[in-house]
Amino acid sequence: MERYDVVVIGAGFAGLTAARDLGAAGRRVLVLEARDRIGGSTWYRPDAMDGAGLEMGGTWIVPQQPHVFAEVERYGIAVRDSELPQRMTWSAGGKVLDTLLPVPPEEYGALEHALRQLLAAGARLDPERPLSEQDLADLDVPIRRWADDAGLTGNARELLISWFCGCANASEDTGSALDIIRWLSSMDNSLWGMVQASVLGYTFTDGTVSLARAILDDSGARLELSSPVSAVRADDTGVVVEHAGGAVRGDRVLVTVPIGVLGDIEFSPGLPADKRAASAENHAGQGQKIWALARNVPEDLSGFGWGTSFDYVGAMHTTERGVVLVCFAPEHDRVDAADLADVQRAVREFAPRAEVLDACTHEWVHDPYSKGTWATFRAGQFARYELALGRPEGRVHFAGSHTARRWRAFIDGAIESGRRGAAEILAADQ
Ligand SMILES: Cc1cc2nc3c(=O)[nH]c(=O)nc-3n(C[C@H](O)[C@H](O)[C@H](O)COP(=O)(O)OP(=O)(O)OC[C@H]3O[C@@H](n4cnc5c(N)ncnc54)[C@H](O)[C@@H]3O)c2cc1C
Repeated sequence: MERYDVVVIGAGFAGLTAARDLGAAGRRVLVLEARDRIGGSTWYRPDAMDGAGLEMGGTWIVPQQPHVFAEVERYGIAVRDSELPQRMTWSAGGKVLDTLLPVPPEEYGALEHALRQLLAAGARLDPERPLSEQDLADLDVPIRRWADDAGLTGNARELLISWFCGCANASEDTGSALDIIRWLSSMDNSLWGMVQASVLGYTFTDGTVSLARAILDDSGARLELSSPVSAVRADDTGVVVEHAGGAVRGDRVLVTVPIGVLGDIEFSPGLPADKRAASAENHAGQGQKIWALARNVPEDLSGFGWGTSFDYVGAMHTTERGVVLVCFAPEHDRVDAADLADVQRAVREFAPRAEVLDACTHEWVHDPYSKGTWATFRAGQFARYELALGRPEGRVHFAGSHTARRWRAFIDGAIESGRRGAAEILAADQ
């Protein structure tokens, strides 16, 4: 049986970064990836729609994300900043508001109260330390409950709930408010920063794959695609990893698969109860990201809505046939991406004259190697699983964006976790 120093399971940003760091330290590394491509929860399709390259998964990065920007600089990867729209569009239940702010003047006080509550909550967090150790259980509640506890009212309440759900890609009854307030504190408690971190940051000019490939090429690791791992069997001398192409031996293993997928791999000895429970519960990021090509919409549309199918619709660029829109919904069954009429109905809640010509998505929620979009915790999961998910079990180590600190559930967090996982393995071998 072939033997490696480390077998890395998963070729997303966590696995590729770990492989690169381990390779740089002289380790022989094998990366086993279930899919026929690298990148995992990021997936750039260069000619997805009208010759336009689209990111089906992770897309935006911001300079406050040190790990991903360090890699961008290291490999000279081209990125570009988003253009600011002329104005924001607000849709209340499908009625586009012709106002600068999302609330009428009689609710300006309620808006100010909501923003104060949000900033006060954000100021309580230290995003560099585990949130489960910071006495924040009152924030680790469903998004809607946090809005009620904070006394939010009127349009400001509806907008904040919808914005949180948009950031969470989760419903207001499942997503943890704390996990979204973390975005704010990670942007140094800047509300504008939080908007940038969601949909107005930098994108990769040649797709996220340009960075993933640069990291892989620098790793010296062997990569096996289309090799889903079915079992990880550890003993005192090493680990046997069984995959579609056979079995290999490693001194150590780094598992980077998403939370919900962990339970599909057979571990021997078995995973402890907390990791098994986390995987069975899965995370709350179970929504949609849909691309649409539309005519009769503003070229710089940036629309936030509440009581709408999509919580955000934004123009990304313009082709000869129309405007390419990125649309998010917090629950998976809100819009049928295969039905252009349904996508058009949902887009018209933001641009009433829109004519949708094409649409495109990836069903991350039904993809067996993801089982969700990004790893927003469900309310209460910080206390139960924040530390458990990244804890090593003997020779089996765990990384993935869901184990990261400051930017968990982001590309930056995936890279942070890969670096931490590699360092942990190197330290254990000394
Ligand atoms: C729709 C969407 C939008 C997003 N938007 C953003 C954004 O704008 N900005 C941002 O920073 N982040 C965004 N994210 C999140 C970001 O993409 C992820 O946090 C990050 O890419 C996760 O990297 P990872 O390496 O931890 O996990 P993954 O990328 O999920 O990698 C895990 C790998 O494990 C593989 N795998 C699974 N099971 C097995 C098995 N049994 N055997 C072998 N391999 C297996 C998978 O195929 C996958 O390649 C988004 C994600 C999605 C889905």
